[in-house]
Amino acid sequence: MKIIMLGAPGAGKGTQAKMIAEKYQIPHVSTGDIFRANIKNGTELGMEAKKYMDQGLLVPDELTVKILLDRVAQEDCKNGYVLDGFPRTIPQAEVLDKALTELGEKIDYAINVDVPDENIVKRMSGRRACLSCGATYHIEHIPPRQEGVCDGCGQSLVLRDDDKPETVQNRLKVYHDQTQPLIDFYTAKGVLRTVDGTVDMKDVFEAIVSILS
Ligand code: ADP
Ligand code: AMP
Repeated sequence: MKIIMLGAPGAGKGTQAKMIAEKYQIPHVSTGDIFRANIKNGTELGMEAKKYMDQGLLVPDELTVKILLDRVAQEDCKNGYVLDGFPRTIPQAEVLDKALTELGEKIDYAINVDVPDENIVKRMSGRRACLSCGATYHIEHIPPRQEGVCDGCGQSLVLRDDDKPETVQNRLKVYHDQTQPLIDFYTAKGVLRTVDGTVDMKDVFEAIVSILS
């Protein structure tokens, strides 16, 4: 099963993608996580991506498409995957579509996690991320067992630089301008399904599972 998560930054795509990946035993592929791992390791790709990410801008399509296609060509993706944060532009979606068509494959579902802009800034300022294992928490809604410490790997949790309110406003604008048109793109392909992302994460997941089952 090949699934795409759509939605504004902070809508809960990553949270749900991890749960889907676990239940259906498919890899969770997050371009944001790949970029952050590269920044942490000081790679050339990481240095380049950081210039855009810090301003709330999208990393150029040429760079992003290449890392995504390399990742989904790996052995563990052969039975499917859940994409989180890709595609984010129409050209990215078209490249993915073409690559899949050449393999005789297609996206099965594009799940749109719908959360209004008013809720997003609050969500993002409360998000705490583990840059070591990629786990995500929220200080009010989904707190870690011990404040500031990752339940999974014990490393410190951080407020991502791009989750600061001024950057979040930019990211929301970029989302509406460049990513939201994907809703029409996947509706036209007949694979778009929208879930209410404002309810408890378990209820969002239940709605997604009933779509996928
Ligand atoms: P995205 O991957 O779409 O950017 P995340 O999955 O990281 O978003 O979620 C953004 C923030 O909102 C995180 O702090 C997360 O813990 C929290 N969150 C996710 N789903 C819910 C939910 N249903 N209700 C409340 N908070 C949520
Ligand atoms: P995310 O972790 O999905 O919120 O992504 C964090 C940041 O990484 C985004 O704000 C972009 O700067 C960059 N990024 C992640 N995925 C993409 C993508 N598909 N295209 C362009 N930039 C991306």
